[in-house]
Amino acid sequence: MTTTTADDVDQGVDIDQVLADVADVARPCAEDGEVKAYIADLAGMEPGNFAICVTELDGETHAMGDLDIRFSIQSISKVLALVLAMRKVGEGVGVQEQLWRRVGREPSGDPFNSLVQLEREQGVPRNPLINAGALIVDDVLLDHCADPKGELLTLASELAGEELTISEEVARVEEDTSARNRAIANLMLSFDNLHHTVDEVLDVYAHQCAIEMSAAQLARAFRFLANDGVDPATDRRILHPDLARRVAAIMLTCGTYDAAGEFAYSIGLPCKSGVCGAIVALAPKQAAICVWSPPLDDKGNSLAGRVALHELSDRLDLSVFKGPESAL
Ligand code: GLU
Repeated sequence: MTTTTADDVDQGVDIDQVLADVADVARPCAEDGEVKAYIADLAGMEPGNFAICVTELDGETHAMGDLDIRFSIQSISKVLALVLAMRKVGEGVGVQEQLWRRVGREPSGDPFNSLVQLEREQGVPRNPLINAGALIVDDVLLDHCADPKGELLTLASELAGEELTISEEVARVEEDTSARNRAIANLMLSFDNLHHTVDEVLDVYAHQCAIEMSAAQLARAFRFLANDGVDPATDRRILHPDLARRVAAIMLTCGTYDAAGEFAYSIGLPCKSGVCGAIVALAPKQAAICVWSPPLDDKGNSLAGRVALHELSDRLDLSVFKGPESAL
């Protein structure tokens, strides 16, 4: 999978060597993090697992590490659910009326499963990438899909280019440990911001968190968001370009829990993390990236993953604030 092309050599950058150097810097940081126990136990993940995968829009892939181990994608699924909801409601009035009246687009600055703002802000979550907002997105999916879990899995599988599965075991543990998510859903229900029952919404949420993907599949699957909404593998339009850019904007401002400001500052790429220890990042018009290392920092982001993305972004000049030229 690891290849260096004539183009890279022409530009004087050996990207595979860059990945190896980045891994050398990032990997040791994992020792200071903490693995989310139930996910690791169920999936057989190890604290020492590590992967970086950079998949360019033309399919060329630079990668190293544990690329093929599948883990439950957890919060990263929130982006796919948002994309599916946008596909259902359509751009323009649809997305405005059916989505943005019910969920905001502001960073929360609070932990991903906090209830505090929700009470103050009349049951309207700050954004679709915190738990409260993701539950609203799932409620929208229930409005439009006969089988939201199935449609999400189909979308993820198509984007990954391989058939994916949901771990029923992980989904069951999600539901067994959902007291806080249940409280969030009930609070939103009390403000009339939920159309379906709490059980129905939590069922979709638990199953989307339990979709299992590898780092290589995640990098491949997220390329459409770096390509104005078109999956470069199939030329299929997944989202209108305006919406694809806006999803990327929400990832930049809200995708990494209450560390989004620090991620924008140090990495400068739209990112979405999950408590599985994976982080996907978009290098618009160039590539999608996935880094995976299970131990998390105190905000719930992969510790080594964050360091790896920082190093990678610096070494390849990837920051979206830099402009279109980079070493890729
Ligand atoms: N299953 C987790 C939860 O809600 C997902 C968390 C995450 O990856 O941020 O609560």
